[in-house]
Amino acid sequence: MIKIPASLLRQIYDHTEQSYPYECCGLLIGTSDEDKNHSVHAFRQCKNLNTERARDRYLMDPVDYLRATREFENGPWDIIGVYHSHPDHPSRASQTDTDRAMEIMATAWSYVIVSVQNGTVAGAQSWVLNESERKFYEEPLVSVPEEGESK
Ligand SMILES: [Zn+2]
Repeated sequence: MIKIPASLLRQIYDHTEQSYPYECCGLLIGTSDEDKNHSVHAFRQCKNLNTERARDRYLMDPVDYLRATREFENGPWDIIGVYHSHPDHPSRASQTDTDRAMEIMATAWSYVIVSVQNGTVAGAQSWVLNESERKFYEEPLVSVPEEGESK
């Protein structure tokens, strides 16, 4: 399960809508327990370096990734996942998404995909990787009404 404060989820949706008709991506920052349940406390937008096929591919800028890694390495939060948008496509994980996840082998991450239809968010799903089956399984994505700052 991944829990995202409603206000943060709205900001992530804003990012995906502003990037339409191109794919955008970003990192999810927060905490996770032993059962791989994630709580998102922050996110960081990342540049999509893929300009040739930006409508249906994304390539996260490694500089943005490093910046986020450094920013949070000494704090209580970690990078716990990644989000990206699917302009005019459903929020299902594609074969490319699966291959990418297998490459980076971030098996404890949540992979949130936001479907943007005609410039407006139509829905979002979160996926977790089963590395032995090389397959994504959906996990519940819960929008939490309270503010996201930890106490
Ligand atoms: Zn995708």
